[in-house]
Formats: sequence, C-alpha cells, structure tokens
Amino acid sequence: MYDAIVVGARCAGASTAMLLGRQGYKVLLVDRAVFPKDIPHGHFIHRHGPQRLARWGLLERITATNCPAVTTMTTDFGDFALTGHDLAVEGVAMGIGPRRSQFDKVLVDAAVAAGIELRDGFTVEEFSSDGERITGIRGRDQRSGALVSETATITIGADGRNSRLAQAVAAPTYEVTAPVTCWYFSYWSDVPSDALSVFVHNRRVIFAFPTNDNLFAIFMAWPAAELNEVRTNVEAAFMAVVRDIPALAALTADARRVERFYGATDLPNFFRKPFGPGWALVGDAGCHKDPYLALGICDALRDADFLVDALASGLSAGGDLEAALAGYEAQRNAASMEQFRQNLHLAQFKPMPAEAMLLRQKLRDRPADTHAFYLANQGMLPRETFFTPENMQRIMAA
Ligand SMILES: Cc1cc2nc3c(=O)[nH]c(=O)nc-3n(C[C@H](O)[C@H](O)[C@H](O)COP(=O)(O)OP(=O)(O)OC[C@H]3O[C@@H](n4cnc5c(N)ncnc54)[C@H](O)[C@@H]3O)c2cc1C
Repeated sequence: MYDAIVVGARCAGASTAMLLGRQGYKVLLVDRAVFPKDIPHGHFIHRHGPQRLARWGLLERITATNCPAVTTMTTDFGDFALTGHDLAVEGVAMGIGPRRSQFDKVLVDAAVAAGIELRDGFTVEEFSSDGERITGIRGRDQRSGALVSETATITIGADGRNSRLAQAVAAPTYEVTAPVTCWYFSYWSDVPSDALSVFVHNRRVIFAFPTNDNLFAIFMAWPAAELNEVRTNVEAAFMAVVRDIPALAALTADARRVERFYGATDLPNFFRKPFGPGWALVGDAGCHKDPYLALGICDALRDADFLVDALASGLSAGGDLEAALAGYEAQRNAASMEQFRQNLHLAQFKPMPAEAMLLRQKLRDRPADTHAFYLANQGMLPRETFFTPENMQRIMAA
C-alpha cells in the first residue's frame, strides 16, 4: 500500500512524485515509456518554470544536458522585431528548451533520488475501486508481461490530455473548446541564434529556440481548419511559411534540417475537475491548452507544487483531504484562468488587442523599457513592476 501512485512520469507526474518523495511519502511512479524517451510535444520552459526548477535544484542539471539557457527574446507580429536582451532574474535565465528525452529524465532521476519507486515500461490498464473511492491501479509490466495490482491512499493521473484516469472517473470538464490549431515541428543545425523568436504571420504562429546539442527547434501552427491541406505536404507548407517571413528565412538560410517533421493535431482546450474520492489529476490531464503561448510545462510544474501542498495538508493527522483538494482546484484555476483564456483568444488568431500593439510601437528603440516589459510580461517580475498607470503613461507619452 502506497501513500500515492502517480500515473505518468513526465513534467507533471515526475515533479509530483519528487515533491511527495522529498516530504517522505511512500510513492509509486509508473509510466508506459522507458526513460529517456522523447514525446512529440514542445519543450520551451519559460515564465515561472525556470525559477521553480532552480528552487528545486534541477536547473543546472538541465543545462548540463548540453542545453543553453535563453536570455534573449524577440517577437515579430508582422509589425517589427521587438527584442529584449539579458532577460534573467537573480541569475535565472528567462527560458530553456531541453528535449523532452533529456528534461523528463532529469525529473524522473530527481524523483528516484527523493526515494520514490519508479516502474517505467509499465502500462496502467484500469483503476481499482471499492465502489466509492479509487483505491489503486491494475497494469502490465511490459518486460515480464505480468499483470500487477497496487493500492494507494490517492491515485494521481499525470497521464496527459487523454488521461485514462480522468475517463475512468468521468471527471467533469469546463471551459471546453475543440482544437483550434494544428502543429508541426522539427530540428535544424547551423542556426546562428541563441534567442527565443516568436513570429505571428498570416494566421500562422512560429516559435523557434535553441535546444540540446547545438540544434534549433522550430514549431509552427496553422488554424485547425487548414490541417488537411497542410498534411498533404508538411515540408512544403512549413517551408513556404519560413520563406514568407524574411527574418525567419534569414535565420535558417544556411541551416540543415536534421530530423523529420513531427506533428501534433488533437489539442483541445479544457479544464477538468482535478480531484474526487481517492484520485487527483495534474498537468495536461487536469488542464489542457493550445501550445500557442507554450504554457503547458511551466503550469504542470506549478500545479505539481500546488497539488503536493494540498496533499501534505489533507493527508496530515486531522487533515481534510477533500477540502485540501478543493483548495488545489481553486488555486490552479486562479493561477491559470486568465492566461488560459488569453491563450485561446490568440490561438484562434483573433486580432491582438490594439493597446498591446500600440505599446509595442512605443517600446521600439527603448531597450531598458523593453527589458522591463519582457520580464514583467513573462511573469519573471511582478506585473506591477512595469504595468503601473504611471509607467504606462510615461511610455505612451513618449
Ligand atoms: C506541439 C506541442 C508543442 C508544445 N510546446 C510547448 C512548449 O514549448 N512549452 C510548454 O511549456 N509546453 C508545450 N506544450 C505542452 C506540453 O508539452 C504539455 O503541457 C506537457 O507535456 C504536459 O505534461 P504532462 O506531464 O502533464 O503530460 P505528458 O507530457 O503528456 O506525459 C504523460 C505521460 O503519461 C504516460 N501515460 C499515459 N497513459 C498511461 C498509462 N495508461 N499507463 C502508463 N503511463 C501512461 C505517457 O506515457 C506520458 O509519458 C506543447 C505541446 C504540443 C503538443
């Protein structure tokens, strides 16, 4: 009998298991993947992500996988390139883009080092119940073929957007919108850039950044309605967009694509109620959003923190687990709802707010203000360090 079984051992699950392990809980972490293993998802970690990883003592291990930290960010929405340099707070860079094979392995190793038990190559097939509560898992060890049952006080689904646990308990959903974009991406060598570059152009969004081993990742999205057309020839569709954006064409002029194109197309937007009797959800399993603003990983890390705090309070002597988990849902939603909606708005390629476009114009050729803008906009400094009425008035009057 475990205190917790965590299904899914990537950014949400391995972090949750690690944090529980560090608090002395008896935890079983399972995943059908055997690590290190890539996954056709994105991997630029920014906003509150790098600071949290640094607090957990993991950021240096991630850079040690031969992945550079990113301190330059440039955005081009068809108007001009607005670039912020030296984007770091207390020595923590704005972002980092490790391949998932590397990043998830760092998290899994940290969880194991915290004393949890890992079973990778283990597929959960169903969940056990006593009629009222989820009591554990039944799954197959891929190496031995054995069917194994395990029980726990709480079973946590960190098993991604198609969460089997969420389906088993019929977790209620809200803020649901069907997929609005489709994504393709690949990796290039010989790209002379150390920046995160974001382009929005003709109803396409592109983000490009350095990753492990001197490679450069380029992710691109189209409206979901164009999927059939794009997938008839992904390379042609992708490179046509690259050619259409002069700065992106220049960036990749001497580059060589070293991997195939990967796609991700079934990307709905939703929140799920993340708890019930004997179960909880974290990461994409509990809230999935379009990759437009690349929020998934940093939010998964943050929600692992929220969930473990709630479990520590709910599982303590005299604790009220249900009330603590209701607090977890409220905390998660308060932290993510505004950006969830903003992300969905942008992913539908609706016009950028006029005042945001005007602010960009005013920031042009003002490096100190641009630096402060990016740090506050990325949530690396409190928003009120930049977005005060006085500061806005000063910049707008310029
Ligand atoms: C194209 C694309 C680009 C993206 N770009 C970014 C980005 O740049 N930055 C960012 O922050 N986010 C990005 N995201 C989102 C990000 O990838 C996800 O939010 C993140 O992977 C969620 O992590 P997770 O741990 O919740 O789930 P996942 O990463 O989906 O991991 C779930 C794990 O559960 C395991 N599992 C599932 N079912 C079972 C089972 N039955 N038995 C055993 N194991 C099971 C799986 O094997 C998997 O390892 C992107 C997503 C996509 C699709």
